[in-house]
Amino acid sequence: MFSKFNLCHLPTRIENLPRLSKLLGGPEILIKRDDQTGLAFGGNKTRKLEYLVGAALEQGAKTLVTTGAAQSNHCRQTAAAAARAGVDCTLVLVGPEPERSTANLFLDRLLGAEIRWTDLETRDQTLQKIYDELQLEGADPYLIPYGGSNAIGAYAYYQAYAEFFQQLGCSLPDWIVFASSSGGTQAGLVLGAGSDPEPRILGISVDQPENILADTVSQILDECQERLGSSVKIPRARILTNADYTGAGYGIMNDRDREGVQLFAETEGILLDPVYTGRAAGGLIDLIRSGFFKKGERVLFWHTGGMPALFADRYLADLI
Ligand SMILES: *Cc1c(COP(=O)(O)O)cnc(C)c1O
Repeated sequence: MFSKFNLCHLPTRIENLPRLSKLLGGPEILIKRDDQTGLAFGGNKTRKLEYLVGAALEQGAKTLVTTGAAQSNHCRQTAAAAARAGVDCTLVLVGPEPERSTANLFLDRLLGAEIRWTDLETRDQTLQKIYDELQLEGADPYLIPYGGSNAIGAYAYYQAYAEFFQQLGCSLPDWIVFASSSGGTQAGLVLGAGSDPEPRILGISVDQPENILADTVSQILDECQERLGSSVKIPRARILTNADYTGAGYGIMNDRDREGVQLFAETEGILLDPVYTGRAAGGLIDLIRSGFFKKGERVLFWHTGGMPALFADRYLADLI
């Protein structure tokens, strides 16, 4: 039903974070290492790309086209996946183009992607225009949506939930907490859990208001479920989003994000990223301190990758 192009090193490990748990004095914290999915520094997009590239190759595509921020992890991983699949890659990045190509943008170039720039307001039109151009040139483009979030991308996280369940099925945590933005990861995880009420799956919104993110997740989930022909009724209330930590918006670091990155690094030697996982960790830390979790509950932090962005000019200065 979903063609697959192998890219990932699976299963990713689940580890304990005893020193962080102790420092915060709250729930036991586990971590799922999807920063280690493999392929050019890994991350959650590698899982999605196995199926997105699978679909592209099935159609005979010769060029992958996608879009994201200048420091997009999704774009870096798409460039790497294209290289592995032996097809071209065009990235439509939201400018302005920075003075130096550092971190993910440097890697995009190293991985041989062609880069085009757009502004945020006209992103979707530019993407369509470039797609049409490629089609006219005979480059056989395949369009991967922003964040790789559609039914195909979400299916990868439906599978990831099954992997997690196989690893921890006999002692499931009470919560899964992670960074959520374009919604595909959350849609897949929620669909994976199906009608089970536990664990509760909480997406810390990186940039979207709670109800908008939940609507997006719900829509992708429905599409994925339709393709799977699954009729399990998943209550809307299973889609839990928290937008208390979006601060000044996407990619703009604040003190909470910084503390998230710093505490994981200092107590456990685990590197997070300044845009997504740092924000989710900052949120998790705040939720623990404010007594959100009940006594004895266990929380799994699902690491979604993104570490190359630590080395971007714009974040280096904010971090130390
Ligand atoms: C894309 C991304 C996310 C968000 O995943 P979505 O499926 O877009 O919600 C989280 N963390 C990192 C590091 C990402 O690159």
